[in-house]
Order: sequence, then structure tokens, then C-alpha cells
Amino acid sequence: MDKIKMTTPLVEIDGDEMTRVLWQWVKDILITPYVDLKTEYYDLSLENRDATDDKVTVEAAEACLRLGVGVKCATITPNAQRVEEFGLKKMWASPNATIRAKMDGTVFRAPVIVRGITPLVPAWKKPIVIARHAYGDVYKGVEMKSKGGKAELSCDGNTLTVFDFGGKEGILQAIHNTKASIESFARSCFNYALDTKTDLWFSTKDTISKVYDHTFKDIFAEIYEAEYKEKFEAAGIEYFYTLIDDAVARVMRSEGGFIWALKNYDGDVMSDMVATAFGSLAMMTSVLVSPTGAYEFEAAHGTVTRHYRKYQKGEETSTNSVATLFAWTGALKKRGELDGNKELSDFADRLEKATIDTIESGEMTKDLAGMFKLDGVTVKALNSREFLEAIAKRL
Ligand code: NAP
Ligand code: MG
Repeated sequence: MDKIKMTTPLVEIDGDEMTRVLWQWVKDILITPYVDLKTEYYDLSLENRDATDDKVTVEAAEACLRLGVGVKCATITPNAQRVEEFGLKKMWASPNATIRAKMDGTVFRAPVIVRGITPLVPAWKKPIVIARHAYGDVYKGVEMKSKGGKAELSCDGNTLTVFDFGGKEGILQAIHNTKASIESFARSCFNYALDTKTDLWFSTKDTISKVYDHTFKDIFAEIYEAEYKEKFEAAGIEYFYTLIDDAVARVMRSEGGFIWALKNYDGDVMSDMVATAFGSLAMMTSVLVSPTGAYEFEAAHGTVTRHYRKYQKGEETSTNSVATLFAWTGALKKRGELDGNKELSDFADRLEKATIDTIESGEMTKDLAGMFKLDGVTVKALNSREFLEAIAKRL
């Protein structure tokens, strides 16, 4: 069989620990035997980030913008303990934060759904994709304690009294966002909805926050009317704004199958709730979409350090590679779409189907084996490599 050809390279962003091991196996067992894989490779292992003074991270993000599609392995975000473990020159920033800022992107987190893994919310049948605005608000807030004075907010020559503490102690905080960032967020959401032909919901607390949150609502509405309304109608999908309380109630009653766009803090909290309810972090994929339409695909989980320690000692691991694998298929599918390379997109679809079929027939890693339940199916827990080989057999 001839290998499937690629015209434009993918941006391949390698990472750390157990996911770096899975990365190589996914490629060796499931991709390179079938695809004449073309990539522009960036090594974001912590060692190489340190050696390049983290320039490699910025270059990887620039490559994603230039080539349009990247796929990223999980990476270590250094803390004090990692600085010591790796003897780092400094505590480098989170690579994901650097890439997100450079691409001005929005992160969409989507669960991989298989029969046999039932969401904790039984009504949920289809994915709920969370789109989190990843700039500003409380994450760029300034805060202080008050000893009892009068707090004021001033900008552009206007001053408002926040609160007169009247001699009593208290706390205060100021947050901001920019019109440009909210516009990028809105466009990324509308583009992703069109791309995946999925309804888009957006919710804030605009009834209480009549300027701040209301501006988010207005910007979304203006951009929708001016740039997306007709495209949404043509695609048969809907844009729907509602108050966050109402959205929460509707989400719980829904059967899924929509994108839920949220402000930074709401998205942080709700994405963990939704991920947990769908069963496993190892089944959660994540894609960063720039407002210009560049994509970076990855797993939502980390480098699975605990499993890597076992691997280093030569012990067997049963680490779930589904999210990493779906990052690859997402990227290959997108590359195929952009290049008009149907063979490549079809291959990615078949690989996803083979993965889901493998699990639904009872072959899976330990994390899933513990919660899998499907009538007539006997569960067999496989190690990390065996699971990929079982998929290859079906493929
Ligand atoms: P983690 O790597 O997501 O792992 C936490 C635990 O979740 C694991 O110990 C494991 O549980 C389970 N788990 C996660 N992914 C799994 C998979 N694919 N298969 C099976 N089980 C899985 O989070 P962490 O241990 O807190 O962080 C490790 C490193 O990852 C840190 O250095 C952090 O900075 C980095 N990180 C990177 C990213 C990213 O690049 N996007 C995101 C988060 C964290 P059991 O041990 O119970 O089996
Ligand atoms: Mg969180």
C-alpha cells in the first residue's frame, strides 16, 4: 500500500515524560506506517526549553500561525521543584500560556465519547465543548487590602467611588479586559462553531455587571450580526446568548452537542466540572484556535508524571493515549481539509473510529477499565503499548 502523501507540514511540538513516550509510540504504531508524515518539529522538552532560553516555545507558536495547524504533546510547567530537578536557568513560563498569548487563541475542550463510559450526568449523550476566554478578568486583576479608606476607580479622567470603607477593614480588586481580546474570543468561537457545525451558547452575568459583562454580550452580538449570521443560517446552526444561571440549568438538562463559550473564570471552573462529568481527563482533547483560523491540537491532561516514574524503572504502565491520539487525528484532519487532501482526512476519521471501536469492544487502558460497563462486553485492561497495538489491528 502506498503511504498517504502530505503537501504542507504539520507543526509537531514534542513534550515531556510519559506523554513524550506515548507521542513516539502513537507515531510509530499508528501514523507513520500509513502516512508519509511531514512535520516541522519543535522539541519543547523542558531540557530544550532551558537550553534555548524558551525561544523554541515562541518559534513553535509562530510556526502554528504560519502553517495553520499544529499538534502538541503535554509539557511540564516548571515550579520550584522542577527547577531543582532539571537544574533550570530559571522558572520558565507555562508553554501553553506562551503559545496561547502568541496565537491570541481560545481553547476549546471536547470530550471523546464512547459507549460504555457513561457521563455522571446521564442525560448527556453528545459532547459539550467548553470555550474559555483565556485573557484578563481576575487572572490579570490587581487586589489590595484596605485599612478603612475610600476606594476609587479612575480612568480617562473619570473617577467612581468603589466603596467608602469608613474606617473599617476590607478588601478590593480591580479587573480589566480589552475590546480587541473579546473580539478575538468571539471570532474564534464563531469560526469554531462553523467549522464543527455545532450550536454556540454564550453566557455571562450581564444583568448584574451592566457595563463589564454586558460589553462581552454586546461585542458577541455585533460581530455575529455583521459577520456570521448568514453563515450560521446557511450551516443550520444557532448562536444563543443567555444569562449564566439559565445556561447552567439548561446545560444540566440538555443532551449535549453544543459549544459553551465562557468568560475566563467561568470557563476555568466549568471546564473542570464538565470534564469530570464526562468520565476521564484522559479522554479530553483540547484545541487552541486563533482568530485568524490557526489551530493547535493537544490532550487536556498533563505529562502523567506518576506513570513516567514507573516507566523509568522499567515497570509496566497502562497510560491512556486517547487524548494524545485525538490531538493527532484532529491535526491531520484539519491539515487534510485545508490542503484539499481527502485521503488524509479520511485516514484520521478511520483512526478515530478504530480507537472508539477498540474501546467499545472491551480493550482499553486501566483508567477506563475501572468504569467501563456495556452489556455483553468483557473488559480487558491493556498496557500502554498493547492498547495502541489493538487499535492498529482494527485500523
Ligand atoms: P496529569 O499529568 O494530568 O496527571 C494527573 C493524574 O491523572 C495521573 O497521575 C493519572 O492518575 C491521571 N491521568 C492523567 N492523564 C492520564 C492518562 N492519559 N492516562 C491515565 N491516567 C491519566 O497531571 P499532574 O500529574 O498534575 O501534572 C504532571 C505534569 O504535567 C506537571 O509537570 C504539569 O506541569 C504538567 N501539565 C501539563 C499540561 C499541558 O501541557 N497541557 C496540563 C496539565 C499539567 P493516576 O496516577 O491515579 O493513574
Ligand atoms: Mg481549572
